[in-house]
Amino acid sequence: MKKVIALMLAAVLCTAALTACGGDAANADAGSQTPGETGAASAAQETAGAQAETADTQSDATETPDGAASGDNVLIVGTNAEFPPFEYVGDDGEPDGFDIALIKEIGSRLGMEVQVENMEFNSLIASIGTKIDAVIAGMTVTEERAAAVDFSDTYYEAVQSVIVRADSDIASAADLENKTIGVQLDTTGNFIADEIPGATVQAYNKGVDAVNDLLNGRVDAVIIDTNPAQVFAQQYEGQIVALAGADFEFEAEYYAIALPKGSELVDQVNQALADIKADGTFDALVAQYIGETE
Ligand code: GLN
Repeated sequence: MKKVIALMLAAVLCTAALTACGGDAANADAGSQTPGETGAASAAQETAGAQAETADTQSDATETPDGAASGDNVLIVGTNAEFPPFEYVGDDGEPDGFDIALIKEIGSRLGMEVQVENMEFNSLIASIGTKIDAVIAGMTVTEERAAAVDFSDTYYEAVQSVIVRADSDIASAADLENKTIGVQLDTTGNFIADEIPGATVQAYNKGVDAVNDLLNGRVDAVIIDTNPAQVFAQQYEGQIVALAGADFEFEAEYYAIALPKGSELVDQVNQALADIKADGTFDALVAQYIGETE
């Protein structure tokens, strides 16, 4: 009994603060967050820090028994709201987009309240199981990521696109060699750019910053997933164009929701996803947020 209480207490501490829990997953790159995104987390850390002083026997716990960052009926979901139309900051200042609507729908079918945490893309995986319970972020399933987290069934097929200035003569994979290429840090676009012979890769925390440097000539091309590429190209119509990944022989990628390794939520999320697809809700969300892709 005492042990159960100790575990529960440790769980509460870990829920509130990354810093109260040791272990690998706690080495999240929280320091790289931009100001404004850290407010809630640091307040929680202060509270938990004070509690940790009086309960230091539990400080070696790394996570809750189920690797959850929150209680049974709350699902804290990390995203990076810089990836339209999947996630962006809405007019009300809150994360919105296809992924956000999808995870809220999944949450409601599981009887869970979804809370969305907006974070840097490259700190999402490391925060699973401590600061957040899950990630939905247009995240492509990769072998490396699958070594650290469990993925749900995939819900969207994607491919990278290349954004160039309207007057660019870049049209094929060979044309990207020896060029300066902008990407979002730690994304699949980043991994592809790293393999291009002679390329200089500039990695940004936000895809839109890479696009800005394309507009002002600091990079020659931006490699990013097709849907956000089309959103950006539309936003700066006439100045930049999004070239289809097929011309560059990019392979298909598949987005999935990331959960802690061994989480019993994987099956539940998969069931909810299947139901959402079967009853037409998924297609309605695609129509609402994504529309026709060119
Ligand atoms: N699909 C890409 C990846 O998983 C990009 C995701 C993103 O930038 N949100 O790496």
